[in-house]
Amino acid sequence: MAEEKFDAIIVGAGPAGSTAAYLLAQEGLDVLLIEKGTTPGSKNVSGGRMYAHALNRIIPNFWDEAPVERPVTREIITFLNGEQSVSLDCHDVNWGKPPYHSFTVLRTEFDAWLASKAEDAGAVLACAIRVDEVLKENGKVTGIRAGEDEMLADVVIAADGANSITAQQAGLSKVFTAHQVATGVKQVIELPPETISQRFQVDGNHGAAQLFVGDCTKGMQGGGFLYTNKSSLSLGLVVSTAELQRCQIKMSEILEEFKESPHLAPLIEGGQAAEYSAHLIPEAGLGMIPQLYGDGILVAGDAAGLVLNLGYIVRGMDFAVASGEAAAKTVIVAKARSDFSRQGLAAYQGFLKESFVLRDLEAYRNAPRFQENHRLFNEYPRLATGLVSKLFTVDGTPPVHLLAKVLGQIKENRISLWQLAVDSWKGAKNL
Ligand SMILES: Cc1cc2nc3c(=O)[nH]c(=O)nc-3n(C[C@H](O)[C@H](O)[C@H](O)COP(=O)(O)OP(=O)(O)OC[C@H]3O[C@@H](n4cnc5c(N)ncnc54)[C@H](O)[C@@H]3O)c2cc1C
Repeated sequence: MAEEKFDAIIVGAGPAGSTAAYLLAQEGLDVLLIEKGTTPGSKNVSGGRMYAHALNRIIPNFWDEAPVERPVTREIITFLNGEQSVSLDCHDVNWGKPPYHSFTVLRTEFDAWLASKAEDAGAVLACAIRVDEVLKENGKVTGIRAGEDEMLADVVIAADGANSITAQQAGLSKVFTAHQVATGVKQVIELPPETISQRFQVDGNHGAAQLFVGDCTKGMQGGGFLYTNKSSLSLGLVVSTAELQRCQIKMSEILEEFKESPHLAPLIEGGQAAEYSAHLIPEAGLGMIPQLYGDGILVAGDAAGLVLNLGYIVRGMDFAVASGEAAAKTVIVAKARSDFSRQGLAAYQGFLKESFVLRDLEAYRNAPRFQENHRLFNEYPRLATGLVSKLFTVDGTPPVHLLAKVLGQIKENRISLWQLAVDSWKGAKNL
C-alpha cells in the first residue's frame, strides 16, 4: 500500500546514506532513511580506519561528539615470509592532534551515531526494514517496496553498499564480478587499553594501523590489517574474490593461520575474540563505477564502487561520506528546480568531480590493474624479508657487500632485473 510521499528515500544507513540524509534533512527536506539492520552499523563490516577530512567538512570537529576509537599516529607496513618479516614504521604525533588525520572506528557505534545526527536534523530513520524492490513509473524511479509496504519519493538514493540491489533494480549497475570485488573478513579482539598502547608503542589514547603483505594471504592478491581501538583490535584479511575462487581457500581458515603466525601471535596474545564478520569490498576503482544517476535515482558509496585501495592505503568511508554529500547537494539543486529527471540529477557527476572522489579515483585509475601483479604478494615480500634478514646477520662467513647481497636475493627469488625495474617504475607511476 502506498503511503505518504517523501522528498528523498535513502536506502542504507552506512556513512554514505546517513551523510546524505543528514544534509538533506538540515535543508528541511522530508527524508526517509531505511536500514535493514536492527540498528545502523549492526550489519556493517569495516577494517575500521576512517580518514577524517571528509566528515570534518560536514560536521566540524566531529571527533568531539562522535564515538571514534583512537586517532592513528603510527603506520606500519609489514612484509611477511614464513618466519621472517620486515616492517616500515612511520610515527607522526601530529596526526594525534586536531585536525586529526584518521581515526579507528567501530562501525556499530559509529554508524549509529551518524544516523542519529540525521534523525536529529529531521530525517525519519526506519530500521529492520529491507528494501526489496525499486518502484518505477514510465522508466522513472518513484519509490521503493519493502515487504508489503510501498513508499514514494521524488528521488531515491541507493546507499545500500556493495552489490546494491537498489542500483541493480533501477538498471544502473550489474552484480559486481569476482574480479571487481575483494572478500574481507574481520575479527574484533578485546585487550586492555594499556596493553594495546604498550604493544603498539603509542601514547595514551593514540592508535596504530598495521597492514601486512605476503604469505598471510597465501600469496593471493590482498593483505592483512590490524587497527587498534580503545580496548580491542580489529584484525582481518582482504583477498581478491576471484583469487579465492581460483584457489578454493576459506578466508576463515587463513585468518586463523595468520593469527598463529610468529608475527601476529604476540600482538594478540591474551585477547578475547569478540566478533567475526565478512563482507565484499568493491576494489576495481574507476573501471567498475556504474551509471551514477538515472531518472529519480542516485547511487552513492560502495553501491557505486567508490573505494580506493592502493595496498598501503584503503579508503572507502571517506569516499562514502563525500559521495553522500555530493548526492545531497544534487537533490537540493533538483528540488529547487523541481526536476528529478536524469538530466536534473546529472549535476551529481559534477559534484563528485569537484570533490576528491572522482579526482582521486581518476588519479589512481591504473592502481587496481597494477595490483594484479602476483610478484607483489609473493616474490617481493620474500625479497624484502630475505634481504633485510641477511643485512642484519653476522655469522662469521666472509663479508658480502650490499650490492652483492641485493643481486643475490634478486637471483634467489628468480626475479629478473628487467622485471624489477619495470614493476618499480609502474608502482611509482600508478600508486
Ligand atoms: C573487511 C573490510 C575492511 C575495510 N576497511 C576499511 C578501512 O579501514 N577504511 C575505510 O575507509 N574503508 C574500509 N572498508 C570499506 C568501507 O567499509 C566501505 O567503503 C564503507 O562502509 C562504504 O559505506 P557505504 O555507506 O557506501 O556502505 P555500507 O557501509 O556497506 O552501508 C550500507 C548500508 O546499507 C544497508 N543495506 C544494504 N542493503 C539494504 C537493503 N536492501 N535495505 C535496507 N538497507 C540495506 C546495510 O545494512 C548497511 O548498513 C573496509 C571494508 C571491509 C569489508
